[in-house]
Amino acid sequence: MEKTEKYLKALEVLVDSDSFEYNKVYQTDKHNISTNRYCLVATPRFGEYGTKSHGFSVFYDIKEQIAKPIDILAVTDSLIKLELVDVFEEDEIDCDACGGCGEVYFDFYHNGKSYEVEADCPVCDGVIYKKSDKPATKDFKDGQFIKIGDMCFYPQRVKELVAVASIIGEDVLVVSQYGNATMFKIGDDVYFLMMKVRSCNPEEIISTFEL
Ligand SMILES: [Zn+2]
Repeated sequence: MEKTEKYLKALEVLVDSDSFEYNKVYQTDKHNISTNRYCLVATPRFGEYGTKSHGFSVFYDIKEQIAKPIDILAVTDSLIKLELVDVFEEDEIDCDACGGCGEVYFDFYHNGKSYEVEADCPVCDGVIYKKSDKPATKDFKDGQFIKIGDMCFYPQRVKELVAVASIIGEDVLVVSQYGNATMFKIGDDVYFLMMKVRSCNPEEIISTFEL
């Protein structure tokens, strides 16, 4: 794979197609950047992408400090240890009374006057979604965290780091823990910034990586 192709795939890990603001790769003077609000990937600048002048200061403010290697295979193993739960999608209910919107208008007559009332549809009870019978996917069970250095992270964030590291195919260094974030350097020129959780109970920490 060409280098820029790898960079693009790495950036796409954090592109959130459902988001209005975070659904694309952005470009600054020196980098291409993508973020899902919880993590950020920065690669060297290549190609042409839309610019964004604010929102990336957290990345540019962090200075390289500790530069310790982290064993990404061990980090990957720590994800395998976690408990998973089924995630169900919600199916839309087909209601021919309200057309699926869950609300209907009633006409109410009293003393020759008519009153119009909007209320829950009496046929479907206004419930327009129901939990699907079959799980669509699996997700990490709540209340499980991974600790790196002195910060705790949601496993989903760590999974994103592992995905980016595996695309780039290079060793991972922890370069800084500063404020609310940890910066990882992947190979020579890709950076991954991960926001810590505000707090977690010691008994919820499933794996710890000392720095
Ligand atoms: Zn209905």
